[in-house]
Amino acid sequence: MKATKGIVVTLQYTLSSTDGEVLETSVGDEPLEYLHGFGEIVPGLEKVIEGADVGFKTKATIPAAEAYGERDDDEVFDVPRGELPEDIEEGEEIYADSDEEDEEGIPFTVVKVTDESVTLDGNHPFAGKDLVFDIEVIGLRQASAEELEHGHAHAEGEEEDCD
Ligand code: ZN
Repeated sequence: MKATKGIVVTLQYTLSSTDGEVLETSVGDEPLEYLHGFGEIVPGLEKVIEGADVGFKTKATIPAAEAYGERDDDEVFDVPRGELPEDIEEGEEIYADSDEEDEEGIPFTVVKVTDESVTLDGNHPFAGKDLVFDIEVIGLRQASAEELEHGHAHAEGEEEDCD
């Protein structure tokens, strides 16, 4: 079996900046399980893993455009101070209510707080960054019909109520 569309891939990964700072890692935690070919992971990483076997190991630098995208200055904007909680702090991540009931809130980073306004940034924290992925494919399995229908992997053996 190889990592192709419709295969659930189990992965150990460490994500670093190009200057070597570790940003995220699955090592010492649960490995990542995702459904290949459905955009569950960033496009550049999906390309690297395409066709891989169990045991495939690599370290790849993914440019920002193929990772979390370029930064968009239009995603940085001010809202009146009174519209947000009193205790909000710079550097904090807050979630705006989504219109869709079943959707998680949209994350924003609080960039600046003044008496009059709060500056929010809706860019992904890794947007505009080239990222280094150190990965190892540790498992491959055929996705279930339900996973294919949902377009994402489910934790093995668990009933998922997510459609
Ligand atoms: Zn699901």
